[in-house]
Amino acid sequence: MRLDKLLTHTGFGTRKSIKPLLKSGQVLVNQTIQKDGKFQVNPEKDMVVVSGEQVHYQEFIYLMLNKPQGVISATEDREHETVIDLLDQRDCVLAPFPVGRLDKDTEGLLLLTNDGTLSHQLLSPKKHVDKCYLAKVRGEVTATDIDFFANGVTLKDGYTCKAAQLSVRQVVDGYSDIEVIIQEGKYHQVKRMFEACGKQVLYLKRISMGTLQLDETLELGAYRALTDEELTALK
Ligand code: URA
Repeated sequence: MRLDKLLTHTGFGTRKSIKPLLKSGQVLVNQTIQKDGKFQVNPEKDMVVVSGEQVHYQEFIYLMLNKPQGVISATEDREHETVIDLLDQRDCVLAPFPVGRLDKDTEGLLLLTNDGTLSHQLLSPKKHVDKCYLAKVRGEVTATDIDFFANGVTLKDGYTCKAAQLSVRQVVDGYSDIEVIIQEGKYHQVKRMFEACGKQVLYLKRISMGTLQLDETLELGAYRALTDEELTALK
């Protein structure tokens, strides 16, 4: 890989802005000053140091975001802020994208990566990956609703969902706090499943996807890299 490409991919600037950095002699490859951006390096073997900081190359990036309401699960949008806008510039270099979508008003766990294989594994309907959501629903969620979810809710458009696990955490003043686990990811799925039961979802938050649990210490809008353990379990 070209040295300048390695430096752009690890967040040291654009190919243009890196030129003066190279010229100034601040880039060392295996302890030797290297001024030529075209110089070939092996990112796994060669030690590259910029202004005293060692460069750590990675091909893939895996980030867990606690998505807040009001941002779009997309890489770009003309009108609205996207989840990518919440990332530091440095973390955008490897072009992460959201794995699946959460509605604009849904909060919680969103995985961002540039690993297309993992994304496909998590989203493919054939893989039956559980997604767990907490919701506040207007009305009292009953045993009938739980059975309805377990037997496959038929949505208003005629589509019958796969069996889903619904449990009620509490019912207070005519509002139900529920947990639901689904294996699909259809458009507005949880909201439409409750709509089919005559109930409205007022608040929705995803707390897990497969083995990956939302880190509740992350503030809304904050994110962090997955740990090695989380990544190994997910794959
Ligand atoms: N189901 C929904 O209705 N919305 C989401 O954002 C995710 C699942």
